[in-house]
Formats: sequence, C-alpha cells, structure tokens
Amino acid sequence: MHEFSIAMSIIEIAEAEARKADATAINELVLDIGTLAGIEFYALDTAMEMAIKNTMLEEASIKINKITARARCSGCGEEFDIENVFDACPKCGGLYHKLLCGKELRIKSLIVETPER
Ligand SMILES: [Zn+2]
Repeated sequence: MHEFSIAMSIIEIAEAEARKADATAINELVLDIGTLAGIEFYALDTAMEMAIKNTMLEEASIKINKITARARCSGCGEEFDIENVFDACPKCGGLYHKLLCGKELRIKSLIVETPER
C-alpha cells in the first residue's frame, strides 16, 4: 500500500525532528495534504494509525488538513477549485491553467514532549 510507505516516511521525519529537540514523545502532529497529492485520505489515516505503533508518535493525536486544490486559468486569470488536473476553467472553458496549491504533502506542525530539567 502506497499510503503505508508515506506514513512511514512522515513518521521518520517527525521522529528526527523530535530528537533534535531532545523530545521523549510527540503529542501532536499536523499534516497538510493537498487533494491532488495523490493520497487517499482515508487510507493514509488508517496507515498512520498502524504505523505509529512503537514509535514516538504512539500517543500522538494526528490531524490531517485537507488542502483543496486551486488553479489559475492561463486564458482569463480566473481562480477556481479544481478536482483533477484536466478540469476546464469554469469561466472561459480554457484547459490551460497553473496549479496554485493542492499537491502539498508536508508536516505542518509538531508538538513534542520534552523531559523536565
Ligand atoms: Zn478561464
């Protein structure tokens, strides 16, 4: 499953960041994922749940921000929500556009627990 390997690499990055901060655990992880990133949201959610076992994220609350893809028409400049890359401009019907967002797959924020000193 594609989403499982994505979940694993997200966890790897999150753990590396947490270690840099001398954290013992991760309390919260927020992900930004675009609707055109090629990810099944439900599958990623399930994969994350399985993959966090025995990691620093085991007790973490994981939030996935769904970023709706938007594009700007190259013909008329209209900006619109886009469901797939071949969608035409709703205003002029043009097929050429620039994607403004929707392909993101990144860790937005991470809240870690650090030992008391
Ligand atoms: Zn247009």
